[in-house]
Amino acid sequence: MKKFLIPLLFLLLILFLFITFVCHDIYIPGIRAIFCHDKNSCLHESAHKVDDTAGWISRTDEWVEAVDDYRMTQYLMPAEFKDKHAFEIVFFPGIGKQKLTSVDSKSIIFWQGGWGGYTELYASIAGYSGGDINEIPLCLQQFYNMNEINKTVKGLGY
Ligand SMILES: [Zn+2]
Repeated sequence: MKKFLIPLLFLLLILFLFITFVCHDIYIPGIRAIFCHDKNSCLHESAHKVDDTAGWISRTDEWVEAVDDYRMTQYLMPAEFKDKHAFEIVFFPGIGKQKLTSVDSKSIIFWQGGWGGYTELYASIAGYSGGDINEIPLCLQQFYNMNEINKTVKGLGY
């Protein structure tokens, strides 16, 4: 009986990973692989890949400071002058006092405590932009290689 336990656990792990990759949009850093299902999610996952390839821009102090400055400015700005995606960025999960978004246990992110933070914001802003650098807040544009992100998205067939 014992000798079946390890292969069974291995099989369950493979099944878990298969469900995760087929049902979810995901970027896997170790092998730089992307699984995505539409243009928006491919933009998001491609931004993760370009971020990773560039040495994780989203983990630099420069990115964090630029995001914090932008959030503060947008937070204080009268509603009629706020950027289109200001609300999503100001109240992004896992940044400032915002809690991470909880996700179902079939996702790998569940085991990281939830979804959000500066790295997810980086990818999400690329998603909001629709692939157009001009749709990214001016003070954050310098952190994006939109040509590379769009090239990656095209390579995925979107
Ligand atoms: Zn992401």
